[in-house]
Amino acid sequence: MNKILVIIFASLLIFLLVSCTSTENREVENNPTKDDSPVTDKYEGEDSETGEEDKDSENMEEEKEVEEEIEEGIIAQYRVADDWSLVPINEGTNEKVVLLTIDDAPEKYSLEMAKTLKELNAGAIFFVNGHFVDTPEEEEILKQIHDMGFVIGNHTYNHVNLKNLESDPEKQRSELVSLNDKIEEIIGERPKFFRAPHGVNTEESKKIAQEEKMVLMNWSYGYDYFKPYFNKDKLVTAMVTGEGPEVDVPYSLLKNGANLLMHDREWTSEALEEIVIGLREKGYEILDPRLIETIK
Ligand SMILES: [Zn+2]
Repeated sequence: MNKILVIIFASLLIFLLVSCTSTENREVENNPTKDDSPVTDKYEGEDSETGEEDKDSENMEEEKEVEEEIEEGIIAQYRVADDWSLVPINEGTNEKVVLLTIDDAPEKYSLEMAKTLKELNAGAIFFVNGHFVDTPEEEEILKQIHDMGFVIGNHTYNHVNLKNLESDPEKQRSELVSLNDKIEEIIGERPKFFRAPHGVNTEESKKIAQEEKMVLMNWSYGYDYFKPYFNKDKLVTAMVTGEGPEVDVPYSLLKNGANLLMHDREWTSEALEEIVIGLREKGYEILDPRLIETIK
């Protein structure tokens, strides 16, 4: 008799425990989460053994969403100012940043430079010349650079001085648009930034860039294209101090938001790591160019 009572009591206890647990589960499931995003809905609707897995997938999905938003330029934190520097859009955003840009890519050293930057977790814009993506091998290199997370910009198809094409608006159009078509073919998207060769724009090229939804971008300073700085150590010093005394810049051009011009060159590739480290030691953050406002 006693045994039977114990069994009945135990069964009752187990029954109570089970119902409590399932009520808790139901409460969790019915609880509205912090937003009504389709991602959350999707995971709520799916049956899963443990809540932990749900949470992990949710976090991963959220991270992926943020990544996508950055890629689409939704989370813009900086804009290009009239002097080509990068300024925060909202108060509270770090203004002590510099932007790295690499022109005439991908001639010879761009992939190596991209690997160096990736290793240092430093973003950059690679401005591409069409005549450097003419072969399948070159196309593959551009694709790799893009796949590593770098931003690809337009630097015209043939690297011509657009002023010399002023009488030929159609040729100017083709210099910009045919390269965008080509880049889109290779990486699946059109460039969002345009830098004219030698920084020389025309009224026409500005109009075409606008139509193509590309932000115009020149630069604050750069030294690797001046002969005295065709040297790794000299270039590191010039880029990190902002001073180029051997080319009549005895003062520093380094400032918050400075837009740094570099090229696909041997000495620049050699100097790149020390340039990044030197700028960071001075307290500058290397800006992720995906945070720059683009044209919708
Ligand atoms: Zn160039």
